Amino acid sequence: MTSTYEWIDHTYDVVVVGAGGSGLRATLGAAQEGLKTACITKVFPTRSHTVAAQGGIAASLGNMGPDDWRWHMYDTVKGSDWLGDQDSIEYLCRHAPDAVYELEKWGMPFSRNEDGKIYQRPFGGHTTEYGEGPPVQRTCAAADRTGHAMLHTLYGQSVRRKAEFFVEYFALDLIMDDEGVCRGVTAWKLDDGTLHRFRAQTVVLATGGYGRVFFSCTSAHTCTGDGNAMVLRAGLPVQDMEFIQFHPTGIYGAGCLITEGARGEGGYLTNAEGERFMERYAPSVKDLAPRDMVSRAMVMEIREGRGVGKNKDHIFLHLDHIDPKVLGDRLPGISETAKIFAGVDLTKEPIPVIPTCHYNMGGIQTNYHGEVVTKKGKNPDTVVQGLMAVGEAGCVSVHGSNRLGSNSLIDLVVFGRAAGIQLGKTLKPNATQPELPKNAGEAHIARLDKARNAKGSTPTAVIRDRLQRTMQEHCAVFRTEESLAEGVKKVKEVHETLQDLKVSDRTMVWNTDLVETLELENLVANALVTVASADNRKESRGAHAHEDYPDRDDKNWMKHTLAYCNMDSGEVDIDYRPVHDYTMSDEIDYIKPKKRVY
Ligand SMILES: Cc1cc2nc3c(=O)[nH]c(=O)nc-3n(C[C@H](O)[C@H](O)[C@H](O)COP(=O)(O)OP(=O)(O)OC[C@H]3O[C@@H](n4cnc5c(N)ncnc54)[C@H](O)[C@@H]3O)c2cc1C
Repeated sequence: MTSTYEWIDHTYDVVVVGAGGSGLRATLGAAQEGLKTACITKVFPTRSHTVAAQGGIAASLGNMGPDDWRWHMYDTVKGSDWLGDQDSIEYLCRHAPDAVYELEKWGMPFSRNEDGKIYQRPFGGHTTEYGEGPPVQRTCAAADRTGHAMLHTLYGQSVRRKAEFFVEYFALDLIMDDEGVCRGVTAWKLDDGTLHRFRAQTVVLATGGYGRVFFSCTSAHTCTGDGNAMVLRAGLPVQDMEFIQFHPTGIYGAGCLITEGARGEGGYLTNAEGERFMERYAPSVKDLAPRDMVSRAMVMEIREGRGVGKNKDHIFLHLDHIDPKVLGDRLPGISETAKIFAGVDLTKEPIPVIPTCHYNMGGIQTNYHGEVVTKKGKNPDTVVQGLMAVGEAGCVSVHGSNRLGSNSLIDLVVFGRAAGIQLGKTLKPNATQPELPKNAGEAHIARLDKARNAKGSTPTAVIRDRLQRTMQEHCAVFRTEESLAEGVKKVKEVHETLQDLKVSDRTMVWNTDLVETLELENLVANALVTVASADNRKESRGAHAHEDYPDRDDKNWMKHTLAYCNMDSGEVDIDYRPVHDYTMSDEIDYIKPKKRVY
């Protein structure tokens, strides 16, 4: 069967997989360095999930009041609950202003303050004076369509720099050689069914998160963790997958996001008694506490019988006290979202909301140059040659166990840019590359072929639904020993049902049945390592709230989880890597752990 497939071969200096904010910034960076650069993407670049980012991008510009990158660093370390690597966090916060000004110069249409400078709004967990001062306005915004503005800007600039785009190509797997060097990537062209082998000096994975392992999530249907799964299939580990961010304000029922910017502009939450309950949980920052805390507080209120609605199972978000003109200027997008998905006129009524899966802190382990690293012998940070990862797929570990709002968009551009700089330093344009082994990609075709001809009895959508409901039930905001153990077992059972897959469409052209099946395999890989890592971590830290171990345990658990997965058996192996307890420069000292209260 496999003999009927043929490859079309390509050679580039750099191949980026993914055209969201991080992939585009890396593509642009590589092209600026004079490298022959291709960007492969399964959806048109400006349809990547980044387009949906609303609230904004954090950088200590100080346009609305005093700010300092060191304060941003302190907040990020504290937000991460001391699991973030402080050298990477320093890199992020130090370079954030440059990365934003660059976007401004490339034409990104930011909102403006009265002085004509970039407008910045408050966001959860962002403060002044190393957490001692009041909240800061640090989040740069283009109304509530910041990601949209950013993607269009970066796509235009990439085209201008002559980067080549392979649109609606579904990347299958990495081509690794016997020495463990990444030599390229394979892809299936969706609109004509052809198969492609891309040879490259370096492959950059920028495939985004895997929110779709949950039943209720804010992310696009395309967020299926394909890059993470490719890395697992290549025998490499992923890091800190137990840490999943639940956004406090997903619309009840629909899951669509209402940006934290809504609370940044003065919105607040109430329970069934009309009480602004966040005042009890986080007396100083209240509704602008970090997301893990607000989500937990909401679930506690609901559990204690103070939820709103017929089933007392959600919470209200109020914006009805804010001047409609401000809502129109600053939050036009969510006014529309609330109308369509909750049937609510937010100038008059509260929006029904519930914590919803929003972001994956874990991913492919990298250093702050974007290079993928792995444990080899005594060195936990050995660079994997020829492979980089950026954006939500990556885990340079700036977010640790909990990401602050608006710190992802800045992560995308700061580390996308860092990857471009590193590629420029380490690669020569048009350098001769060794031939790929003749059988390169054979195993990838075998996997595709098996899925394409799957003759079992359970359709893809049924297995996916089982997976999503299991994760929602066993790996959500609060976790227990019992529910996690059960979760591990159930996800394994889902993995076994993949043997009974039923795929109905056997063609190669626009076979969405097959695309969804390959995505499901990737989702299952992500779920296996996520629930196993969560079951393994016997403490509570950031977004991992373990009811049987309610406290943070720095002595035993201030370490990163590394998870490996045998994709045939579904077995997960866990290992660890030390947290970097040092900074990048001597301009700021290591920020010592303390209790995380707001
Ligand atoms: C609704 C919403 C609002 C948000 N708002 C904010 C915000 O205001 N501020 C903030 O900081 N963060 C926000 N976030 C988080 C942030 O937007 C994301 O973390 C970020 O956009 C991810 O960008 P990315 O470049 O990693 O990947 P994505 O934008 O998800 O793009 C992934 C890319 O990979 C490609 N791809 C994936 N798999 C394959 C494959 N197999 N083959 C080929 N191509 C593939 C896709 O085509 C796509 O181009 C928000 C997230 C959501 C869901």
